[in-house]
Amino acid sequence: MLQPFIVTPGTSVCLADYDADDTGHYHHKSETKRPLKKLQKRLRKLQELLYAENQRALLIILQGMDTCGKDGTIRGVMSGINVQGCDVVNFKVPSAHEASHDFLWRAHRAVPAKGIIGIFNRSHYEDVLVTRVHNLVPEEVWTLRYQQINNFEKMLVENGTVVLKFFLHISKNEQKARLESRLRDPRKHWKIAESDLRDRAYWNDYVHAYETVFNTCNTEWAPWHIIPANKKWYRNLVITERVVESLQKLDMKYPEPTFDISQITIKD
Ligand code: AMP
Ligand code: MG
Repeated sequence: MLQPFIVTPGTSVCLADYDADDTGHYHHKSETKRPLKKLQKRLRKLQELLYAENQRALLIILQGMDTCGKDGTIRGVMSGINVQGCDVVNFKVPSAHEASHDFLWRAHRAVPAKGIIGIFNRSHYEDVLVTRVHNLVPEEVWTLRYQQINNFEKMLVENGTVVLKFFLHISKNEQKARLESRLRDPRKHWKIAESDLRDRAYWNDYVHAYETVFNTCNTEWAPWHIIPANKKWYRNLVITERVVESLQKLDMKYPEPTFDISQITIKD
């Protein structure tokens, strides 16, 4: 088993102590191809079981600095998954309609139904990250949100949703390399947002805002994982294993038929 990278609740997190370059005992992508394939196969089976059982849901929350690889993680981890049992939701700048509600409204509407794996590409955490860094709401408003988030997530967990939170940890140098590679490749220009370039200048403020999140919203019921994400292949391997492991822990069973199967014959 790989290191789980789970942050033990109560730990005081300083992001500089976490190595974004870590690749465990692996040295090259080629070494992870087989274990990743095996994990993806298990994930497909577990997803079918989750869907068949129709009792629990899994919510995966992906957060991180721009270019940290949220989209690539979704592609890499979920490849081959039955799309019918999977919802991906992107959290962008709130629309006027969304902004006219409380900040958790759009997140709650988007959580997965029973039997479904839901992925949040960004999430309600933006409301204590970008919002805080750019003073989009007054301090007295965002300071209340940490507790509100904890209560919201607790309610989800108590109602049968497993909440897995991943911070994709890249270094500032790695972000530079990824932004430069996007600038060089015309097929990647569509991915560059002015906000990414603007936000790079606020790197330290984001680190600080994230550390507050890890120190305030890292609960027993929904702890954070800080995933070394400079190497995409290691990031995908670790996250896939975490997802498989958490589904396995549910000890799911195919539901019993609601009638006596032995009495049934299929007529011509
Ligand atoms: P991307 O993930 O590259 O598609 O960009 C989405 C953008 O929406 C990012 O710049 C986020 O910071 C921004 N965003 C997401 N949620 C919020 C929010 N609640 N308030 C303001 N901006 C947000
Ligand atoms: Mg972006």
